[in-house]
Amino acid sequence: MTKIREIISAVESWVPVRQQEQWDNSGWQVAGCDPDDECSGLLTCVDVTPAVVAEAADRGCNLILSHHPLIFKGLKRLTGATQVEKSVMAAMRSGIAVYASHTALDVAPAVGLSHEMGRRLGLRDMKVLAPRESGLLKLVTFVPHDYADSVAEAVHAAGAGCIGRYDRCSYRVAGTGTFRALEGSNPFVGETGSDHAEPETRIEIILPAHRKNAVEAAIRSSHPYEEPAFDFYRLENENPALGLGITGTLPEPTDVTEFVNLVKKAYNAPAVRCSGWSGTVRRVALCTGSGGEFITLARSMGADAYITSDVRYHDFVDHGQSLLIVDTGHFESEACCKEVFSRIISEKFPNFAVYSSRVEKNPVTFM
Ligand SMILES: [Zn+2]
Repeated sequence: MTKIREIISAVESWVPVRQQEQWDNSGWQVAGCDPDDECSGLLTCVDVTPAVVAEAADRGCNLILSHHPLIFKGLKRLTGATQVEKSVMAAMRSGIAVYASHTALDVAPAVGLSHEMGRRLGLRDMKVLAPRESGLLKLVTFVPHDYADSVAEAVHAAGAGCIGRYDRCSYRVAGTGTFRALEGSNPFVGETGSDHAEPETRIEIILPAHRKNAVEAAIRSSHPYEEPAFDFYRLENENPALGLGITGTLPEPTDVTEFVNLVKKAYNAPAVRCSGWSGTVRRVALCTGSGGEFITLARSMGADAYITSDVRYHDFVDHGQSLLIVDTGHFESEACCKEVFSRIISEKFPNFAVYSSRVEKNPVTFM
C-alpha cells in the first residue's frame, strides 16, 4: 500500500516546496481526502480543470499532481462561478487531493523543467541561467578531536556537505574550547565548577537551508557533549545548481531553420514565434514558462538563441536582432512536467502507476 503522503514525500525529496518563489502558491491545494489514505492512483497534468478532476475520478485516482497551482489567489467563496471554484468543489466531492509543484520544480537542480527541455534538445554542459541567491547555510561546530569523524559523518548523512559533484565536504581546524560546567550539569569532560580547556576540532560544513532541522538533529544525536556548541550562518553565495532556466551548447553549429525545427519537435509545438535574427546557433539559453525577463541575461551569457514563452512584442523589437528569440508557447514549454513527475515517482515506487492526463489540451489553439 502506498499512501498519498508517501507519493508527495517522494516528489518533495527532489522538489522541496520551500524552494518555490515567494509569490507562488505551490504545495497542497485541496485535501479532498486524507494524506494518510492509500493512493488509489495518480494523475499528472499542467493545469487542474473540472475536466481533469472528472478524468481523475473516472480513472480511479485520488491524487492529482499538477504543475500550475489550482489556487493562486485567495478564494472568497465556493459557488462554482469560476473554473477554479468548480475544480476545487469537484475535487472535494470526489475525494481527490490536489498538489502542485510549479516554481519549486522550475528551479529544482537537475530535474527542473528547463533541464528536461535542455536534455531533449541535446544541449551539453548545462548550467543554470539565473542562479538563486543564498539558499545555503554554513554549519560551524566544535567537537573533541576523537569525535570529529563521527559527528561529520552524521551531519553528512543528514544532507550537508555537497558542493557540485563532490559530497562529504568539510573544513577542519584544531583549536581549544573552554567552558565551566555549572551545578546540575553532567559534563562529558572536565569537572563541575572548574574551568576546563579541551582540544577540539572546528568543523565547517555547507548545507541547503531546508536540511537545517535534520542537520541540527544529527549534531545533537552524535555530539558527545551535553550542550553541543554549533552555529548556522546564512550565506550570500549563489547556489549554482538552483535557479530558473539553463544555458548549454548544441553538439554542433546549427542554422536557424534546422534549430527552429529541432525546438518544435522537442517542445511538440505546432508553431513558434521567432525574431528575425540570422546566424548560426551554437550556444542556447532557455527558460520554461514565462521567461521574457531573462532575454538580456541570456544574451550577456553568450546565447545565440533564447527559448521561452509569453515574450512581449516590444522584447522582439528591442532584442530580436541581438539573438534568436523563440517563443514556443507556455503550455508547450511545461507539458514535460508529466514525464518529470512520472520519472521522480517511478524511481521510488517502480510498480506504482502514474497516469498522464488524456483530456488536458493546450488552452491556446492555432487556427
Ligand atoms: Zn507556467
